[in-house]
Amino acid sequence: MKKILQDLSFVELENLIENYGEKKFRAKQLYDGIMRGKKISQINISPALREKLLEEYEDEPVKIIKTLTSADGTEKYLFSLADGNVIEGVLMKYKYGNTQCVSTQVGCRMGCKFCASTLGGLVRDLTSGEILCQVLAVNALHSDGNKRGVTNVVLMGSGEPLDNFENTIQFLKNVSAEGGIGISPRNISLSTCGLVPKIYELADIGLPVNLTISLHQTTDEGRARTMPIAKKYSIAEILKACEYYFDKTGRRYIFEYSLIANENCGKEHAEGLIKLLKGRPCHVNLIRLNEVKERTLKSTTDKQAYTFAEELSKGGLSATVRRSMGSDIGGACGQLRASYLKEED
Ligand code: SAH
Repeated sequence: MKKILQDLSFVELENLIENYGEKKFRAKQLYDGIMRGKKISQINISPALREKLLEEYEDEPVKIIKTLTSADGTEKYLFSLADGNVIEGVLMKYKYGNTQCVSTQVGCRMGCKFCASTLGGLVRDLTSGEILCQVLAVNALHSDGNKRGVTNVVLMGSGEPLDNFENTIQFLKNVSAEGGIGISPRNISLSTCGLVPKIYELADIGLPVNLTISLHQTTDEGRARTMPIAKKYSIAEILKACEYYFDKTGRRYIFEYSLIANENCGKEHAEGLIKLLKGRPCHVNLIRLNEVKERTLKSTTDKQAYTFAEELSKGGLSATVRRSMGSDIGGACGQLRASYLKEED
């Protein structure tokens, strides 16, 4: 596989251009083209430079090969990578802007029982440039003059971002760099199943992204039934890491709680959550489980979800039921890729 130009920061790109014996200002032309989601072969640079670059670097490291559009406007993409792997992403349209959900790995090794991304295990990590290219490609599809197509990013596609730490951090730096696509860390949410030591590291790096924890249960034993990572890190350890994150960044943290019938949405669970989270600077996002064909777990009804949210609110928590978007097009993690791989078999 060739190298990926989008892995580089602007300064690294300048160094590369200088090493090629070209004038420094060429780096800006190249960088602007990249940030507009162009292929190397489409960027307005000298033919000689283009040729040199194409010998070493992928022309288009991430390609959109399929787009599905939901009745609610949500778009789901299947991307192919240079080595033939596929990943997926989603764009959700809100009043305030467009939020893109990106993948950080091909597959995932965390093994959560409700999640389709983990069905075939981890294939490989994505490079920072491959994560960035997903945003650049979708932004290019939707930007209109100076208006950005993608305003917010959530790291909630396939993969565990903190299990691909270095590349994820590099991506966060490059996607938020001034002069580039410039998406502020405050408009980026990083979701993790709770790799505790990496939460501390993230806090210390000083990129104030919104930290989102996939909690989905109120006890360690209960959590371990669907999330193997719970055997490694306890809820108490996660909460301590969240406190540290808040102290360092001043950012309120968020808990994702996917409602699974007969598993985590009884009265005792509402009480358990209140006990764990009351008084903390956090918010709870309730999501009805997106049922995955290959899995047996079932979702709750809307009514149960709203009753659960009400109980949390009464108990003093900030909690909302998230609108389910794009479920008619397989909005849940890994579903599109899983069905694509099946078609390929
Ligand atoms: N690995 C990261 C991010 C990827 S998943 C993490 O675990 O947070 C993004 C969110 O979707 C997580 O909260 C995950 O638990 C949740 N999720 C995965 N499959 C789901 C499904 N079928 N229905 C509802 N939520 C799901």
